[in-house]
Amino acid sequence: MKQYFIELNDLAEGKVSVQGSFESGLIDLAAENLQQAGTLDWSVAAERAGSEVRVTGTLKTGVELPCSRCLEVARCEVTKPFDLYFRQRDEMMFDEDEEVELDDQETRTAFFTGTKLAITEILREQLLLALPMKPLCKVDCKGLCPSCGTNLNVNTCQCLQEQFSPHMDTLLEIKKRLEERSS
Ligand SMILES: [Zn+2]
Ligand SMILES: [Zn+2]
Repeated sequence: MKQYFIELNDLAEGKVSVQGSFESGLIDLAAENLQQAGTLDWSVAAERAGSEVRVTGTLKTGVELPCSRCLEVARCEVTKPFDLYFRQRDEMMFDEDEEVELDDQETRTAFFTGTKLAITEILREQLLLALPMKPLCKVDCKGLCPSCGTNLNVNTCQCLQEQFSPHMDTLLEIKKRLEERSS
């Protein structure tokens, strides 16, 4: 897997902008039922902001993940702008409170390799954050029957009729009796 980095030492010169396009599967989403579908187009700009590094950018791609109603594959377009601040790990930072230190280290170091900022990792995280909460295979997906699990987009089942028919019968029965009385 090719890694893209921003060399932080280059930021002394000013803003650094990079952009690219990742083929399907280049970013490891670490989930069996989640796939990048189509190219992932991205652009990233990094600049120094005080003691931090500001990273702005956007990504756009298609993803395939399970439909929230029927569990079949749903394909969704994802666009995610982002504006993030990173703090580079260096000797200067070790004077901070130790507990904060640990949290900081865990959340931030994944994005750094020495003085390099790993763009691929940032894009991966942003993509995961941008995934739809309730993806649908189609707008009018009928979902699975809650009783028997039949995919109602593909098949019908008898569950609904069985649930409703006793009730319907009773209503018809009452109606019939009422008609008999009034006649
Ligand atoms: Zn569905
Ligand atoms: Zn059913």
